[in-house]
Amino acid sequence: MNAVNNLALERESRVGNIAFIDLKAQQKVIRDRVEKRLIAVLDHGRYIAGPEIDELEQTLAQKTGAKHCIACSSGTDALIIPMMGMQMTRADAVFIPAFTYNATANAVLVAGATPVFVDIDPYTLNMCPKDLERRVDEAKAAGLTPRMVLAVDLFGVPADYPALGAIASAHNMRVMGDGAQSFGGKQSGNWVGNITPITGVSFFPGKSLGAYGDGGATFTNDDEVAEWCTSIRWHGTDEARANSVRVGINGRMATFQAAVLLEKNAIFWDELEVRKKVARTYDARLGNIAELQSIPDGTESGYGYYTLQIDERDTVREKMNEIGVPTAIYYKTPLHQMEAFTEFAPESGLPNAEKATSRVLSLPMHPYLTEEQTDFVCEALLASYKAA
Ligand SMILES: *Cc1c(COP(=O)(O)O)cnc(C)c1O
Repeated sequence: MNAVNNLALERESRVGNIAFIDLKAQQKVIRDRVEKRLIAVLDHGRYIAGPEIDELEQTLAQKTGAKHCIACSSGTDALIIPMMGMQMTRADAVFIPAFTYNATANAVLVAGATPVFVDIDPYTLNMCPKDLERRVDEAKAAGLTPRMVLAVDLFGVPADYPALGAIASAHNMRVMGDGAQSFGGKQSGNWVGNITPITGVSFFPGKSLGAYGDGGATFTNDDEVAEWCTSIRWHGTDEARANSVRVGINGRMATFQAAVLLEKNAIFWDELEVRKKVARTYDARLGNIAELQSIPDGTESGYGYYTLQIDERDTVREKMNEIGVPTAIYYKTPLHQMEAFTEFAPESGLPNAEKATSRVLSLPMHPYLTEEQTDFVCEALLASYKAA
């Protein structure tokens, strides 16, 4: 019998079921408090713009240190809404990494601008500042006006904002962070939400701070951007909500979701410590066989996901599956090779993004993993890699 088969036989009795993300275990912890919150909403009946929305916005602004938090209907809308405020056209360029979830590119296109794909740094897997400079020059030569750098904090690691911000200022661009995976992350002492002038966060159920449905929030220190967000999420109306002052959308968060998020946030910060502990175990035990995502000094991951790069990734993943350890591939295809976005693909290709898609593997990451389960995931990966 080989090690993979042995682990497959032992898994159930040793560690039970390992979930990739365990929302059930979390719900058990907060069920009573969430029920009370939901009943309160049923009682006051303000399903839209209820008091829980204000409470959530204030709580999250205070925790992150951002001046404004504007709740909205999804993480994608949290990116679209501030870009709509900028009133961009296809002649305006928004620079995004090629290795991210498709929502980042969709947001730029829905907001009316042109996405320009930038390659990633092969170690951090985030937008490469050097490649950004090259793409800005190319965009200008093609007649586009650089307007915004929309970097992504992939898997939870804040992008290199000091370097990206310097390039953005040199070309008169705004900076926005796609923090859909990085809530709870830090850079230079600042929490995600208060690292960049604008940050979009997602509360999709599977994100580390997740609602029980869709939700998102835009964080900003800029009063003008905050005003855009409040207006645009409510059909572009003025404060009295009587008159349209700009084009808007229905981008509101449901009060029920804010009610859930308030209880989720109350345990999020302790959960984050467990996520970090799981990550430390993975780092210590797997660094010999896989390339870990590098996290620069002064930067802390929010560990939305735990993703490493490994040889023979697909075979390793099959063997993990045989053992009963769930894994995921974020992401199999770089955006510039997806049908919807190929017209924006640079002729040069984006080699680091392309290479990463063939090597990345995401491991179970949630705060309800036991030490035994975390160790078992490591054992399973070591055995799978050896057998691959
Ligand atoms: C999840 C995600 C989004 C979109 O968030 P939704 O709430 O699903 O709209 C955007 N960008 C990244 C990087 C994401 O992971």
